[in-house]
Amino acid sequence: MTRAGAPAEESLFFQRCRWCSTTMYHRLICPACASSDLRTERSVGTGVVRHSTVALRGTPAARNVSLVEMAEGFTVRGRVKGPLASIRPGCLVRLCVIEDPVRGEPVFELCDSPYGGRYR
Ligand SMILES: [Zn+2]
Repeated sequence: MTRAGAPAEESLFFQRCRWCSTTMYHRLICPACASSDLRTERSVGTGVVRHSTVALRGTPAARNVSLVEMAEGFTVRGRVKGPLASIRPGCLVRLCVIEDPVRGEPVFELCDSPYGGRYR
């Protein structure tokens, strides 16, 4: 069964340098050794919020903009769903939508209860 137009699975792809194994997101050249010999891998989809801000400009409602360090070691800019006050550096998040339909960025959700599961 195939459903035209429906994504098979939400997944995030990244690049890994064949020479030094550095991981990166949407890069053409390795930031560590400048090699262009990269291979694409699929992320497990979990990460930790490293930086989080609230964007108020150009949007009807405050929205979260976060830098998420993924389990593989690369960092992605995206949005984290949930109460703004509970999204802080150290929160464990999981990919829920590959691309924000508005901004074209990955969207994450908090893995744990906003008040319980802090991850360090
Ligand atoms: Zn490299």
